[in-house]
Amino acid sequence: MTPSTPPFSDEHEELRRSIRGLIERELAPYAQQWEEDRWFPDECFAKLAAQGLLGLKYPESYGGQGGDYLHEAVLCEEMARTGSGGTAAGLGAHINIATPPIWKFGTEEQKQRYLVPAIRGEKIGALGITEPGAGSDVAAIATSAERVDGGWVLNGEKTYITNGVRAHFIVTAVKTRKTTPPARHHDISFLIVDRGEGVSSSALHKLGWHASDTATISFQDVFVPEENLLGELNDGFKLIMANFQWERLAMALGAVGAMALAWERTAEFARQRHTFGRPLSGHQAIRHKLADLATSVYTCRCVTYDALRRFVAGEEPLKEVTMAKLLTQRACFQLMDDCLQIHGGAGYMREYFIERAARDARLGPIGGGSDEIMREILGRVLGL
Ligand SMILES: Cc1cc2nc3c(=O)[nH]c(=O)nc-3n(C[C@H](O)[C@H](O)[C@H](O)COP(=O)(O)OP(=O)(O)OC[C@H]3O[C@@H](n4cnc5c(N)ncnc54)[C@H](O)[C@@H]3O)c2cc1C
Repeated sequence: MTPSTPPFSDEHEELRRSIRGLIERELAPYAQQWEEDRWFPDECFAKLAAQGLLGLKYPESYGGQGGDYLHEAVLCEEMARTGSGGTAAGLGAHINIATPPIWKFGTEEQKQRYLVPAIRGEKIGALGITEPGAGSDVAAIATSAERVDGGWVLNGEKTYITNGVRAHFIVTAVKTRKTTPPARHHDISFLIVDRGEGVSSSALHKLGWHASDTATISFQDVFVPEENLLGELNDGFKLIMANFQWERLAMALGAVGAMALAWERTAEFARQRHTFGRPLSGHQAIRHKLADLATSVYTCRCVTYDALRRFVAGEEPLKEVTMAKLLTQRACFQLMDDCLQIHGGAGYMREYFIERAARDARLGPIGGGSDEIMREILGRVLGL
């Protein structure tokens, strides 16, 4: 067994081994097919659930494993071994962004109705914040919830939503108050919206993550009952902020996992492929490039693990998590491009994993808060 690196212990390395086994058996062999299909099967949720992987950090009383964020961190890093950014993203959105707000802010009844079946893989979740007119500027969302007898009526549109076609429920940010001037951060609430009458999805075509269903979701006069309000009325911004640190750490961990895998496979390719009478790795330029890339993987891992260690220790490591997100997403895309280059023409071909990995990695600097937004946060934290 690989020796553990803090903040992980031997117990986490044992978990890593079992997750990697499952992924290599149940997911990775089908990655290429699912990319072609533009869809990974819903049964993947059940397969992960059967091993307890949809609820690692959730209490046993809800069907979880009673673990913590460190156990989940192992999963985030290992999911990259699926070799399909889309599959990892769909499963990851359910685990890392859709269910955590219900766990943290949900009523007991909401937890029974959504979290418990989500941990069992029976209900699939999505998080709906982004809209055609509001991405980075979250407070500018326009989807409105009008108060009616017994609940709300929802109208509006969300876009770029992961699991947006398959999700049974959408944890949705809405405007619940109209003030002049707009209250911006203090007029947002969250509703758990069941797929049903008035909810329609259309899948989007994209550069990477082909196996995932990224979609636009329209809400047309959708009635949402009172009991589906998640958290406090008009205090939804708190809910958004509450999970951002974990979402960004999860993305950093995913990037580290993807980088390590791409490096391993590219180094192997460089040992096998011969030009001018020697393996590619026998050429100094390639050898040095691989050395630089290994250094990049190591640097990204150290920065990410440091942020993770602080996060699980209960610090509020806004600076470290933001830096980890910023560093790893761009470094991951750069590494994929360099690995693709080492593959030569093969790197441009569908049958080589690196073609997909390079496309998949392009999302990192955009999603979960773009590079520019990370720099804005750092500007504030650094007192600039
Ligand atoms: C594949 C995919 C999956 C996604 N999944 C989800 C999901 O599940 N749920 C969800 O809610 N959202 C999801 N998103 C949305 C994602 O979070 C947004 O795309 C992202 O936050 C950026 O918002 P935007 O696309 O509206 O870009 P904009 O906010 O319009 O920004 C455009 C560009 O301008 C830059 N910019 C914006 N403001 C500033 C500023 N103040 N200073 C400098 N530069 C600035 C941005 O960094 C970006 O480069 C997903 C997106 C993609 C592509």
